[in-house]
Amino acid sequence: MRQLLSKKKVYTKLVLLYCFMALVGFISNSLVLALLIFTIALLLWHYHHLFLMDKWLWQDRKLSPPMADGIWAHLFEGIYYQQRKDRRKRRELRNMVRRFRDGVEALPEAVVVLRDDWTIVWSNQLAQTLIGLHWPSDEGIRLDNLIRHPDFQQYLAATNFTQPIELPSPVSAQRTLELHLVPYDIEQYLLIVRDISHLKQLEQVRKDFVANVSHELRTPLTVLQGYLEVMDDEHLPDKAMWKKAHNVMLDQTKRMELLVQQLLTLSRIEAATKVPFDNEVDVPSLLATLEQEAQALNHDKQHQISFAVDSKLKVTGVSEELRSVFSNLLTNAIKYTPSNGIIQLSWQRQPNGAVFTITDNGPGIALQHVKRLTERFYRVDEARARNTGGSGLGLAIVKHVLSWHNSKLVINSEPGKGSRFSFTLPPELVL
Ligand code: ADP
Repeated sequence: MRQLLSKKKVYTKLVLLYCFMALVGFISNSLVLALLIFTIALLLWHYHHLFLMDKWLWQDRKLSPPMADGIWAHLFEGIYYQQRKDRRKRRELRNMVRRFRDGVEALPEAVVVLRDDWTIVWSNQLAQTLIGLHWPSDEGIRLDNLIRHPDFQQYLAATNFTQPIELPSPVSAQRTLELHLVPYDIEQYLLIVRDISHLKQLEQVRKDFVANVSHELRTPLTVLQGYLEVMDDEHLPDKAMWKKAHNVMLDQTKRMELLVQQLLTLSRIEAATKVPFDNEVDVPSLLATLEQEAQALNHDKQHQISFAVDSKLKVTGVSEELRSVFSNLLTNAIKYTPSNGIIQLSWQRQPNGAVFTITDNGPGIALQHVKRLTERFYRVDEARARNTGGSGLGLAIVKHVLSWHNSKLVINSEPGKGSRFSFTLPPELVL
């Protein structure tokens, strides 16, 4: 705390100065004149400092005060300290506001500050992306002029903001937004907007998945039920009929078993958090076994299948999972290529890792399907795929297993010419 000006000292000094001037006037025989001159000089001195102060406060940009002495030096110093304190406070306040804004900018939600008449006070950057607000030109504009969806107008009118509402984004109809108004302070509102498109998609995927699984299981069950219903005690089928029915029922149960098995594989892969990567996988011997199995599978179709396998190329990974990748891709090539096709499988060491390729001269796949092949239950031709006994989960499993092994399935295909499925296991997994 600075010391106050001492009134006693000031007045004593003034009285002493007047006494001195009176003495000078008395000696020079002009007492009144001396006192008048001194008073005028004193007045001018004060005015001079007043003007100095006026210039300092209104014109000079400097913080430091002008040179002065006596009572004025004390005053200038006081103003100077006050200004410094104000400046520091303002700086602190600015920093606080900046920190607050940076914090709001860093939020994953769009935030808009509103008055109770719904005019916009402030918004963060994300609000521009999600609801198309332009800052600062939209300051003072009513929010319901920007978001014109009738549900939002109703939400505002109802004035019950305990629950958020979901709306398509005014910027892009493909995006779904969740908007929540939160009252705060006096007559102020915060609008918090979240992009929930991803959640919506996941919800849709889940719904589709349940619908697909039920559908896939119901089809073979309906067939079984149909046969069982006609085979009661009174209507026992003859031997030929029974043989046919038995084969169909066996096929359908196998199909259900495959489906359940693949679903379990998929959920096991998805649920696993840590992959035990310390296993050596002898891919050449694994492919040799698959080659034998393929001969049996190829019995009806009589494709020409060739294997070009680097017999020393082993990798680190999860053997059982990699086996299902090779097996799925090979089985698909055999299944979907019409009889007497040509299928080439290759497993070779390349500078960028271990490369697996399987090429067929089958029907090929159009580009719009290629992009979606690894989705669960996605099939190019439902009827054909079902006849081949596929579950529609094979390539989804391939995709997941490869992503575990830091790799990606690449599909090159041209309708009418054939397809090539390939992937590269990165060098760190190659032994
Ligand atoms: P599925 O069990 O039905 O075979 P997949 O996930 O393994 O399921 O394959 C998905 C779809 O991709 C198949 O239904 C088929 O339409 C297509 N497909 C896969 N491999 C080939 C291929 N080599 N040639 C042509 N189409 C293929």
